[in-house]
Amino acid sequence: MENERLADSFSGRLSFNVPMSEFTSLGIGGPADVMAYPTDESDLKEIVLFAARKGFSIFVIGCGTNLLVRDGGIRGVVVNLTDGFNKVLFGDSGKVEAGSGVRLASLVRQCAGRGLSGMEFAIGIPGTVGGAVAMNAGAYGAEMGELVENIDVMGMDGKIGTIGREALNFTYRGCDLPAGRIILKVRLRLKEGSVAAINERMESFKEKRKGTQSIRFPNAGSVFKNPGVGESAGRLVEEAGLKGMKVGGAEVSKVHGNYIVNVGGAKASDIMSLMASMRDKVHKLRGIALEPEIKVIGED
Ligand SMILES: Cc1cc2nc3c(=O)[nH]c(=O)nc-3n(C[C@H](O)[C@H](O)[C@H](O)COP(=O)(O)OP(=O)(O)OC[C@H]3O[C@@H](n4cnc5c(N)ncnc54)[C@H](O)[C@@H]3O)c2cc1C
Repeated sequence: MENERLADSFSGRLSFNVPMSEFTSLGIGGPADVMAYPTDESDLKEIVLFAARKGFSIFVIGCGTNLLVRDGGIRGVVVNLTDGFNKVLFGDSGKVEAGSGVRLASLVRQCAGRGLSGMEFAIGIPGTVGGAVAMNAGAYGAEMGELVENIDVMGMDGKIGTIGREALNFTYRGCDLPAGRIILKVRLRLKEGSVAAINERMESFKEKRKGTQSIRFPNAGSVFKNPGVGESAGRLVEEAGLKGMKVGGAEVSKVHGNYIVNVGGAKASDIMSLMASMRDKVHKLRGIALEPEIKVIGED
């Protein structure tokens, strides 16, 4: 890859041959050719157009808390928005505008401190605001999409546009973000409420989360989507007797059947092989096809 020419036109940080294991909560993943940390929109445009000219692929990462990167790593450029894209602006009537690189936990706390209600459910969900919108992160019956008014995105031609909530068509753990769009900022509408009541709700959600929070090994949260109303992927895996099953350094968590943990030196192939066993066994026992929630990227 033409490192010098890329560095010439780009003012943010660039790293080469970056182990993705350091950028995923599972601690797994082979090297990415390049990781670019654009500092603002014009910097991002530089990298997007450079990649388009050279035919390199682009992948956007948040905090890598919902990612399984394969052992061969990622060819092309990984865009990391956590250096720039970090502003939060508070407007009137519960309006909030947040950069996609803002940590979700920080936004939840800032909103709570200002008596803005709606994000309490997200306390304890790791990752960035961009990742939370792309994944429609949710918990306890609430999800990110309900709060979104619109988002600004950049396409692979470097052009910026706005997409409204309707067009994003939020669904369970996803939305119709058009291919090749990078979320730049997110506009939310929250409700005004009392700081004490908001804090109380957050505390009760934290309490409920204690079971999964006791998982001490690296993980990426729920591996599979819950297959339908009243069905829990974790319970199905547990019924199939797979809790504690191990492949290499990967293990189906003994605490929560829908978590796979890296107990030491796990490879992406170990996780994939455990996922295949979980899917097969649940399908054989209950005829239910589990669908991955985590995003699997990169090459073997
Ligand atoms: C311990 C633990 C608990 C969790 N609990 C929950 C939970 O309760 N509820 C829940 O929904 N999830 C949960 N998760 C999963 C994960 O935290 C969420 O999906 C989170 O929103 C992912 O954010 P991220 O920034 O880490 O995204 P990443 O994992 O980095 O990326 C996820 C996807 O979003 C895309 N993306 C990220 N940023 C952008 C952007 N700016 N523009 C376009 N696309 C982008 C990526 O390309 C990728 O496809 C949990 C994970 C862990 C490890």
